[in-house]
Amino acid sequence: MLFKNIWTRMITLAAAGIVSIGLATAGAEDKKTKENAGAEAKKASTAPERVIKTDAEWRAILTPEQYRITRQQGTEAAFTGRYWKFKGEGTYVCVACGYELFDSQTKYKSGTGWPSFWEPIVESHVGEVTDRGSGMIRTEVICNRCDSHLGHVFEDGPRPTGLRYCINSEALNFIPAEKEKTEAAEKTKKK
Ligand code: FE
Repeated sequence: MLFKNIWTRMITLAAAGIVSIGLATAGAEDKKTKENAGAEAKKASTAPERVIKTDAEWRAILTPEQYRITRQQGTEAAFTGRYWKFKGEGTYVCVACGYELFDSQTKYKSGTGWPSFWEPIVESHVGEVTDRGSGMIRTEVICNRCDSHLGHVFEDGPRPTGLRYCINSEALNFIPAEKEKTEAAEKTKKK
């Protein structure tokens, strides 16, 4: 009886040992995964924080025309948008997510009937995608934070870049320079 008990105990202890080794390995792997996730998060923090929404969410925050243009690659009729001949000083941001896209200082009169810029405010803020629609090969430009369609870029712009960012007014919101200054001052005051 005693002999049998010893064996039972030994088997139980051995089994417990295997289980604990297994648990320790799982724990180490779990820790490793967490460390990797941390590194990934760190890497991602230098890239823009993506704005991702469902189709229903976009429809809820955009007007039907903004939705048609930004989410369905639409184009507004020339000479109809609110910014094609607008001359205010400030920043043009994405109408869908507020990302800064163009500075008024790079806006110029292209005569096309769409707001035109020769350079994005920060190159990485505007993405490029090959567009083979409408029987042409064009370079579509998108907001690099929320993937909203903005318009197209062509190589017939003015100096210094020679580029023409042809953008739909409906894809933009204008923030006047004065308002930016006031907001910055208020932020400093709060600190
Ligand atoms: Fe955006």
